[in-house]
Amino acid sequence: MFSEIADRSLFEKVTSYGNDFIEKVFERHVAPLDKALEMLSAFDEDLPEKPGNSHEIIDLLQTKGAPNTMPHIGGRYFGFVTGGVVPAGLAAKGLASFWDQNSALQIMSPISSKLESVVQRWLVDLFGLPDKTVAGFVSGTSMANFCGLAAARYRILKRNHWDINEKGLFGAPKIRVVTGKHAHSTILKAISLVGLGKENIEWVDVDQQGRICVDKIPELDENTILILQAGNVNSGAFDDFETLFKEIPTNGAWVHIDGAFGLWAAGTERLQHLTKGFEQANSWAVDAHKTLNVPYDSGIVLCNDSEALTSAFHMNAGYIVTGQERDGMFFTPEMSRRSRAIELWATLKYLGRTGIDDMIFEMHQRAKQFAQLISKVDGFQVLNDVVFNQVIVQCESDELTDKTLKKIQELRDCWVGGSTWNGRKVIRISVCSWATTEKDIVRSINSFKQALDSIQDKKTKIN
Ligand SMILES: *Cc1c(COP(=O)(O)O)cnc(C)c1O
Repeated sequence: MFSEIADRSLFEKVTSYGNDFIEKVFERHVAPLDKALEMLSAFDEDLPEKPGNSHEIIDLLQTKGAPNTMPHIGGRYFGFVTGGVVPAGLAAKGLASFWDQNSALQIMSPISSKLESVVQRWLVDLFGLPDKTVAGFVSGTSMANFCGLAAARYRILKRNHWDINEKGLFGAPKIRVVTGKHAHSTILKAISLVGLGKENIEWVDVDQQGRICVDKIPELDENTILILQAGNVNSGAFDDFETLFKEIPTNGAWVHIDGAFGLWAAGTERLQHLTKGFEQANSWAVDAHKTLNVPYDSGIVLCNDSEALTSAFHMNAGYIVTGQERDGMFFTPEMSRRSRAIELWATLKYLGRTGIDDMIFEMHQRAKQFAQLISKVDGFQVLNDVVFNQVIVQCESDELTDKTLKKIQELRDCWVGGSTWNGRKVIRISVCSWATTEKDIVRSINSFKQALDSIQDKKTKIN
């Protein structure tokens, strides 16, 4: 059975199937067809009694699984905030799959340790963060937000002579949490996970675009965590870090920025005005799998207080051998982890500074193109200032918005999701793939028109 590991034809088959997928992904419909969804029942079987055949297993995935994927690596998937993949990163991840590295300790994977160190240095440099900033490589921004808040909790309590790791939270000095009313739901989850309690949040009003109102922020102190946002998940708006740090005394508060997709603006030439001043925070969360188009899953916590982050996640055991170089597990909650830094490194190395700027600015241009074209179509209205890659659109009534959205999803020319914005139902478009072309936008706009026309029972005109 295990001799199949040496079976080249198995792995060549995987490469060939993967290439078939990529060949079609830029042109195909962006959601599985009904007849594909029906095929999913092929997986409803009991756990087999005996070992099977690897080729048959891969064939089953190819025939019944591949048609049921969402092709977000193509150019017309605008759902949630979902990145595409830069080919060099996808290829590196493919190679690293064969290596199957565990990045817990340097001794367990020297290449992993090296690339984590290199990527940490590159990101600190790219974003212009303080030199002492360290990075932890986690599954996404949910986890990166959790890590940032865990570091904050450690540091604030430590200043109060309270070791959270030893004493726990019961009876601990109170930590205040201040954030804007549009904080992402994963921030709320992180607040729950670190035991700070959602009821304790001091909510701050936001403006029309979802930015925290700087003048409404309560007085801060050194027992407070202030959570800001680089990229509102609906509008794409950025909190005004520059004004905030200039006008509000932080008084030693810990500032965390959720920059899941927006923090990358700081790594560009042409959009870095959006993040101005953000480097004065203490911790930042960012996804590589969104705007940077690194394959899933890949998120990063950055923290200017190495001791707080590594103390929050410290653990020890008789068998742990710390290396001369970086041991990844001290920067993350997990011990064993796959080596995400490999494809992240490959993507950054491939793009370089100008490639990052070009790719992200192009997404911004395509979002603007979308907003311009859709606002000329009768029946659609754009609700946000398109400062980055997000566009929010509504029809005349919530009911019509819902129906149109459903129809667009059925047409499968592009995929967009719904959300709510200032109490109204909206359609949210997130341009987050390097692969999105001007033509993809035009084709998607036509699909929006067709959807609305078919609901309003008009004759569809596509030009
Ligand atoms: C996507 C997103 C998150 C969550 O990130 P995951 O990678 O899905 O865990 C958090 N905050 C914002 C603003 C996001 O867009």
